[in-house]
Amino acid sequence: MSRREPLIFELSGEGKRAFFLPPLDVPEKKEILEDIKLREDIPGFPEVTEPEIVRHFTRLSQTNFCVDTSFYPLGSCTMKYSPKINEKIASLTPFLNSHPLASEDLIQGNLEIIKLLEDYLCRITGMDFFTLWPAAGAHGELTGMMIIRAALTRRGRPRKIVLIPDSAHGTNPSSAHICGYRVQEIKSNEAGTVDLEDLNRMMTEEVAALMLTNPNTLGIFEKDIKRIAEIVHSKGGFVYMDGANMNALLGKFRPGDHGVDVIHLNLHKTFSTPHGGGGPGSGPVGVKKELEPFLPIPVVKREGSKFVLETNRPLSIGRIRSFYGNFLVLVKALAYILSLGAEGLKEVAEIAVLNSNYIRKNLEGIYYLKYSTPTLHECVFSDKWQRERGIQNIDIAKRLIDYGLHPPTMSFPLIVSGALMIEPTETESKAELDAFIEAMKKIAQEAVENPEVVKTAPHNAYVRRLDEVAAARNPILRWEKKD
Ligand SMILES: *Cc1c(COP(=O)(O)O)cnc(C)c1O
Repeated sequence: MSRREPLIFELSGEGKRAFFLPPLDVPEKKEILEDIKLREDIPGFPEVTEPEIVRHFTRLSQTNFCVDTSFYPLGSCTMKYSPKINEKIASLTPFLNSHPLASEDLIQGNLEIIKLLEDYLCRITGMDFFTLWPAAGAHGELTGMMIIRAALTRRGRPRKIVLIPDSAHGTNPSSAHICGYRVQEIKSNEAGTVDLEDLNRMMTEEVAALMLTNPNTLGIFEKDIKRIAEIVHSKGGFVYMDGANMNALLGKFRPGDHGVDVIHLNLHKTFSTPHGGGGPGSGPVGVKKELEPFLPIPVVKREGSKFVLETNRPLSIGRIRSFYGNFLVLVKALAYILSLGAEGLKEVAEIAVLNSNYIRKNLEGIYYLKYSTPTLHECVFSDKWQRERGIQNIDIAKRLIDYGLHPPTMSFPLIVSGALMIEPTETESKAELDAFIEAMKKIAQEAVENPEVVKTAPHNAYVRRLDEVAAARNPILRWEKKD
């Protein structure tokens, strides 16, 4: 682990090959490629042996931290283990071979899967319709806000402002802004939830929507959501719920029954697509009946025993994604929902909340908790007590790497200074949680007895403490061969 892995270019040596073909003993045929200009050489192309290639990439793969090797409590990100069976189902040949341009007749099965998933997501959230095309959570937010804008424009004018609590996810203000709205922040009260008086005062007929992350980024459930929706609706605004953290609510709370008009989910968090691996995601958007005409095209419709992709929809916000979304992510989500069933989904939320509270109870008194309100699937500690000894959240996070654990989310939400935001998820055993708690306790003790070891961590990682400022200011974007 301590050796720096060379670049593949540095392993290169002239004439090295993975294998050699025997000399050609049949006439050479070039006609097929005659008109194509074939290059003789790729400048700088690495020349290596087969064992060098295999070992190089295997070693690199082992330096990647992943949920398949260890606990990954990155708050707000739901880095849970996704069952491999769902991956397997999505990899079945008929799915892999469906061409995005295949005619409707040839993809009836795929369309049925889409429709079924839409129906299940409606049942889970209490919404009336879903579109499965957005490719990520933030893309879902933008889609949802465009739907709201289109509906308000149709009523007369799009309005100017979107209200967002200070405990919201950071993508919400960006999405509202990109959609052409001015963002106004609502303060949280002492309990860490939306301040109803603040909302009452700020909710005017210039406000298009409230974007509410629920549970919010403190892991706290916005229990006044019905009242919040009444206030927003009384002035003709819409309630948008950021449901990326639906993990905490499955089978327990249906946003559509409590005044939410638009919601997005993250299939690549809650519904069995791994999150954070750089692969495709999906951020479906659910709406209430009134907003259905504005959904992006195409809309999957049942026509007798057939499924069709409807595109002639004059009020639609248009196409927001090519073809029909990240289809294989949708297959995994449906497989996940069907394999768990209603009871299983409820259990997901129960264990996610139980696991988070187990960590919270065990670390309470060792790390500072700014808000004492009960939390759901994640909890936010801070470095307040350790900072008195010069130890900051980044030091604690880096030290966790020495214990083989991924650090929690740091310095977010912004309303908790020095935040350590921990989300264990439901897929961890008590033994894993105990190991994490043990490491966190040890680090708190080290902060008192041996602060240097924490401040200079990590010690056993592949790379030591990085100069993040230098990396941001002078990034190395091009490899140049040294002589
Ligand atoms: C992850 C997350 C998002 C953004 O999702 P992306 O797929 O990363 O765009 C939005 N809101 C909340 C609460 C989240 O946790």
